[in-house]
This record gives sequence, structure tokens and C-alpha cells, in this order.
Amino acid sequence: MGRINVLDIDTVNKIAAGEVVERPASAVKELIENAIDAGADKITVEINNGGISYIRVTDNGCGIASADVEKAFLPHSTSKIKSIDDLTGLYTMGFRGEALASISAVSRVDIITKSKDENFGTAMSLEGGKVVSKTETGCPDGTTIIVKNLFYNTPARMNFLKRDSTEGAHIKDVAERMILGNPSVSFKFISSGREILFSSGTGSITEAFACVYKSELSKQMITVDYEKDGIRVHGLCSTPYAARPNRNMQYFFVNKRCVRSKTTVHAAEEAYKTMLMTGRYPILLLNIEIQPGRTDVNVHPSKLEIKFSDDSAVHSAVYWAVKNALFSSKKEKEIETPLEGNVRSTYTGKNILTDRKKESNAESFGEKTFDFFSEDMFSAMKKESVNPDDKDIVVFNSPDAETEQPFPDFMEAERNEEKSGENSAGYEKFKVIGQLFDTYILVEKGDSLLMIDQHAAHERINYEKLIGMNRAPSQVLMFPESLKLSPKEAVILSENEELLNRIGFETEPFGGEDYVIRKIPADISPSQSEGCIIDILNMIAENKDPETAYKKAMFSVACKSSVRANHKLDIKESAALVERVLEDDSIRTCPHGRPIVISLTKKFIEKEFKRIV
Ligand code: ADP
Ligand code: MG
Repeated sequence: MGRINVLDIDTVNKIAAGEVVERPASAVKELIENAIDAGADKITVEINNGGISYIRVTDNGCGIASADVEKAFLPHSTSKIKSIDDLTGLYTMGFRGEALASISAVSRVDIITKSKDENFGTAMSLEGGKVVSKTETGCPDGTTIIVKNLFYNTPARMNFLKRDSTEGAHIKDVAERMILGNPSVSFKFISSGREILFSSGTGSITEAFACVYKSELSKQMITVDYEKDGIRVHGLCSTPYAARPNRNMQYFFVNKRCVRSKTTVHAAEEAYKTMLMTGRYPILLLNIEIQPGRTDVNVHPSKLEIKFSDDSAVHSAVYWAVKNALFSSKKEKEIETPLEGNVRSTYTGKNILTDRKKESNAESFGEKTFDFFSEDMFSAMKKESVNPDDKDIVVFNSPDAETEQPFPDFMEAERNEEKSGENSAGYEKFKVIGQLFDTYILVEKGDSLLMIDQHAAHERINYEKLIGMNRAPSQVLMFPESLKLSPKEAVILSENEELLNRIGFETEPFGGEDYVIRKIPADISPSQSEGCIIDILNMIAENKDPETAYKKAMFSVACKSSVRANHKLDIKESAALVERVLEDDSIRTCPHGRPIVISLTKKFIEKEFKRIV
């Protein structure tokens, strides 16, 4: 007997379902897309057990006529196209006619739907894709689809599902994207009876953004609206200062469809070139409106990837849209033409500053940036071993503490010492001239004027101290801080508690994605703790290796515990910081790779004033 079987239609459908319905979130995505295609402006999504046992999507769209209800669940049945030619003019989310067939093949589905043209609605139930009942019913215009026991008849798929909370987090992610991409639709997302998200559907993209992210973050967003070669690009992009450690907060919608496209990511990031540190990514929410004929979304079963027939036109439109937005924004730091000639950053610390002979070679260091995370860099760093203080310090986080700068510990000890003069460490004497813009310390040293970035310098010093410890000292908060996380961040937190403890944080769940922060690293202020944890969770997400994640997390703590720019320092405090910078060979760049010291030589200054030629 032969061994080749032709699969029955049931099996074929179950296999096909796997392509479209990978997990509860993909079913939710398809159902919401159908509701949007039906013209709904009010959509409610309700789930239980992360969508595994129950998903309900209700819309106020056009509904399905009684005669069409069964057809909608047949494979390759769609009202959106008749032939392949229709794709060139297609603005709908769906067109493959697979979603309802696939979802119903692997679950129990109830549909209640009524089209405006009919007096009665239809209620129908399916099990494993087969209709088990169909009746007339009274109901409002629109459609409700309930999906129960997803994958009940495909145990292999069931086994691939993660915990309820993880699946629920993926669904929340889908709901957020839908809110961001459809500001004119009012969405409600309910999980286990709790309302998690609500958007009012006013049409304002800024409001939609604020529904999903904190309002402080919305303030950091710049409006984008631009058109070129028949391609409109509109939405929001962040100021360079609000950049994130990863691309999780980059959303691209092409004709309302949330897509992945290398072209658009590259174009938008190119517009930020030189404005961002390495490893920092802008927040982007960009809608690209383009004639459907100039795209091909059909390349991916869940229609996630997109191809453009004219990549360079799309690239150029996105690039200029973001570039213009960035430069029209007042928040933008003025970019000035750097002085030509001898101005350079001295990445090499003490040696260059003291050794006149080496200075002539210093030009070659000017353009060099360190990949700080490379192993070379780590091993080259001096590791100071400091014992963490085991005792927990209780901090009363008074309102004052919100604004208080952490006071650099080394400054205290050295306050009364005269720093201008020859010293035991053997480096050349220096004179602190003062502070420039409350941010840079100006120092006269030998034949040079040094400008020291106080934040970058202090950050590096703190980093060196922290990385030498295996477990950073922490402080107990008298009044716990609240911590609001995205679903993804909450999952990372639950899986990395020990790592966070090592860094000095202790958190406790407070329902859903809300937590309270009980302990924080000793040197940061309570008000900074939430931002710091979120930064760290994102770093962990990006770095599979826990040691690298730990080191990167320490940058974040060092940064938060350092004296900021725009903070007044008196001469003695400045001198103490300068001394640390000059005496310590390991202080070359801040942990992000930015220079700490820039020097102007006397010769350069005299040349500029034409005293010498
Ligand atoms: P597609 O969206 O690719 O057309 P689906 O399987 O998702 O395929 O849906 C099949 C058809 O069922 C759609 O073309 C549409 O006519 C109808 N339909 C599905 N969901 C809804 C809804 N919420 N409201 C109105 N019609 C719907
Ligand atoms: Mg569809």
C-alpha cells in the first residue's frame, strides 16, 4: 500500500490556521482588523486567561447579512477583493479571507451580527470550523465574535502557549498598536473584568499616544506632517533627548496597517543622525499614506512585512518628514558649526593633558569613539573594589527629595582642601576658573583651557565604583514609589528579579502591570527609580547575557546618581571633581562613550585672536 495521503479539508484548515493564528494575540489582531474594515468607530476587546479561554471583540460596524454569515467562515472567502487586480486599489486591512476560517478551525466561535439593512440579526455557533447552530436574533447593528478555548483541538499548538500573563501581554500590545494606528476609533480593552486601555477616538494622534504612554512622554513628542511625491507621512517623533535604549517604541503604519519595514526605520533614524548616542533609538509613531498599488503587503501571512515598489521615494519622504519636524521644533538643541582647527576632544585623559609631546598626536583621537561594551574596553577598565554597605538606609522621600541632586560623596570629604597647586599624585597643577552654563567646569591647566562635562565625569566615576561591587548597596524607601510597566516590561521584570536585586532594586507586584518599588540603589533619588528600572528592563530585553545586562544596567544607575548638567557647583566642588578626573587614568569617556574633557590650547586661542600666525 502506498504511503502518501491526501489530507482531508479539516486537517488542511488546521494547518493553515497555524499560519494566521499563532497565539491568542494574532486572533485578536485579525478580529480587530475586521472590525476596522467594517467601518466601526467603537471596538471593545475583552479577554480572560490571556485570551486562551475567552476572547470577545464587539464592534459597531456594518455587520454581516444573514445570508453571508456562513460564507464568512469558509476558507478564502472575503468581501474585500474579487480578483488579484483589486489589490492595487485596496485600503482594507484584510483581503486574504483566511482569518475567520482559521480561527474557527481551532476554537469554538459564537458570532452575533446584524447589518443595518436587515431587521434581524444572526446568532451562529461553530465548533472546529463546523456550524452547530444558527438562529435569528435581536441585536444592535454591528458584530460580536466570541472565541472560546483556542487550540482545544490542536494540543500541539496549545502546548506552545505561554503563561496567561504573557499571552495577555501580547494582546495588550496588539490593542496598543491599534489605538496608536487608529486615533479616530474608540477602543476599550478589558482583561479578566478589568479595563486596561481606553481611547476616546477623537482623532488626535497625540491623545492616542497619551492613552498608551505617560503624558510626560507625550510632551517630548514632535508633530510630523509632510508630503512628497504623493506619499504623506504624519504622526509623532521624539526629541533626541527622549530616545530609548531599543526600538520597542517605534511604530510604522502604512495605510493604517502596522508594519515592519527596514526602509522606513532606516530613513527615520537617519534623520536623527549625530543627534543620538550610539545605542539610543528615537520614539516614532509614523503613518505613511501611499497608493496601495505602490506597496505589496502580501509577502507575509500576517501581513506584517511590507515591500514598496519605490523604496527610495518612501525613504526620502520619511527622512524629510522627520528631519523637518526635528528642525522646526523649538525644543531642538541648536546645532552649531564646530570651530575648525585645533578644537578636539581628548579621549585620553591624563596622558594627553600632561604630556606635551603626545598632544601633537591628539588630533587622531578626536574622531574616535569607543564601543564601550566591547570586552576590550571592559578589561581595560580599572576595577576598584569597594565593599557594599550591608546596612540598609531608610530614606524619607520628602517632596524635596524629588528635586534634590544626589550630592557626590567624594566632594564632601574634600571640601576644605585647597586644590589649586602641586599635589602628591604628581599631575600638573590646575586652576578652576569657574562653571560654564552650570554644566561645564572650566579649568586652566598648563597651556590649555579644559572644559569638563560635569555630568559625564561624575557618571564615569560612579560607574567605576559600582561595577567593582558584586551587589550594589541599596536603600529602603519609607514611602514606596509606584512603577507602571508595559506588559512586555512586566514579563521581563518577573523573570529577572535577582538581577534587579543585585543592582539594588526590590519591587513588589501591585496588580496587573503595576508594581511598587521598595528598595532602590543607594545613590539615586526615589523619583528617578521608575525611569531607571524601565531603562534597565529594556537593557535586559536586549542583552541575553545577564553579565552584559548587569554592566549596562550599572550605567543607568551611575547616570541617575550623578550630578546633572545645569546644576551649580561651587569652586571647591568643581575642584574635587576635576581632581578625580585628572588623577584617574580610567576616566576617558563617560559610560555612553561621550568625551569628558575638551581642551583648547593656548596656541589655538592666540591664533584665533591673531596674536600669532
Ligand atoms: P478578510 O478580512 O481577509 O476578508 P476574514 O476571514 O477576516 O477575511 O473575514 C471574512 C469576511 O467576513 C470579510 O471579508 C467580511 O466581509 C466579513 N467580516 C468579518 N468580520 C467582520 C466584522 N466584524 N464586521 C463585518 N464583516 C465582517
Ligand atoms: Mg480579516
